[in-house]
Amino acid sequence: MNSPDYQPFQHTPEEIALRSSIDVPLLLLPKRAGLFAERALRLRQKAAGHPMHDYLMFMAVVCEAQHARLSGFAPVPLPTQEQIDAAAAEGRALLATEAWPRDPAWRGELRALLAQVLGKLPADSPARTGVSAVIGLPDQTLEQQADRLLAGITLGLDLATAPLIAAGLQLYWAHLVTRTSALGPTVFHPVENSNRCPCCGSAPVASLTRVGGRQEGQRYLCCSLCGTQWLMERVQCTQCFSDKSVRYRGLQPAQAAAEPEKAPAIEAETCDECHHYLKTMHMAREVHVEPVADDLATLTLDLLVSEEGYVRSGTNMLLLFGDPEAEPGAS
Ligand SMILES: [Zn+2]
Ligand SMILES: [Zn+2]
Repeated sequence: MNSPDYQPFQHTPEEIALRSSIDVPLLLLPKRAGLFAERALRLRQKAAGHPMHDYLMFMAVVCEAQHARLSGFAPVPLPTQEQIDAAAAEGRALLATEAWPRDPAWRGELRALLAQVLGKLPADSPARTGVSAVIGLPDQTLEQQADRLLAGITLGLDLATAPLIAAGLQLYWAHLVTRTSALGPTVFHPVENSNRCPCCGSAPVASLTRVGGRQEGQRYLCCSLCGTQWLMERVQCTQCFSDKSVRYRGLQPAQAAAEPEKAPAIEAETCDECHHYLKTMHMAREVHVEPVADDLATLTLDLLVSEEGYVRSGTNMLLLFGDPEAEPGAS
C-alpha cells in the first residue's frame, strides 16, 4: 500500500516530455561564417533549370556580397547592460526593429554591399539599373523605405528595390545579433511558442524541422531578418497557435517517378481555424534546405495553397508581395 507521503521516483510521460524539451535549445543563433554563404550556395543550387533562374542567381550574388561585407562590418553600438536588463524585464526582443535605434552605418554598408553586387553582375544584366538606383537614393529615402519594410507596410514601398534595401537591413541585424550574443549567454530571452523572433522581433520566413544532436526532430521558426531560429511546437499553427486543424500540403517532387516513396521536403502548414499558412521544411528529407532560398524557389507551392484560400503568414524580404500587379523584381 502507498503511504500518503510516499513519492514514487517515477516520471509520468508528460514529465518526461517536459524534461526532454528542457535539453532542447530554445534559440539557435546565426553563425557569421555560414548564414549568408549557405544561403547563396543554396540559391545557386536551386537556380539550375528553375523558371526563376535569373532572379535566384541575382539573389545569390546579393547573398555572396552580404557574406563578404559581414566580416568587415563597421563598428556599431551594441546594447548596454541597462538595455539588456530592461528588455528582459519587459519580456520584449532586445533588438526589436521598431525600438532599436538603427545605426546610420547600415546605409554605408548597404551601398558598399551593392557596389560589390554591381562588380559581380555581367555588363548587360538588366538588374544593374535597380542596383545603381538604390546606391544613389538619398539617406532620407533609404530610411523611409527601411521603416516601411521593417514594419511590413507595403503602401508607399517600392517593391522592386525593397529586396535590395532589405539585404542591407539583414546584414546590419545579423551583425548586431551575432555581436550582441557574444556579450553573454543570457542576453536574449526567448519565450516559448512565440511567432516573433526573440532577438529582433521580426516574422519568420518559414519553419524548419531539424536533424542532429539535441535538435533532432524539433521544429524551429526561422527569422526573416536576422537569421535566428527559435523553438516552436510541431503541428501547431504559427499564426493563431491552434492545433485543431493543421494540415500539410506539398508539391510532388520533380523526381517522383524515380522515387515514388519520397515525401516532399517542403510543405505548406495550413490552418483551417485562421486560414493562414507557413512553409515548413524538413531537413530529414533534404539536409541542405535553407529557409530563405528554398522559400524563393517554391513559389508554385504558394500559388497552390493561395488558390485554396490560405493567406501566407511568412515574410521573405528578398521577394515582397504587395500590389498583385507588381513584378517579382529585376532579373
Ligand atoms: Zn530576428
Ligand atoms: Zn491558425
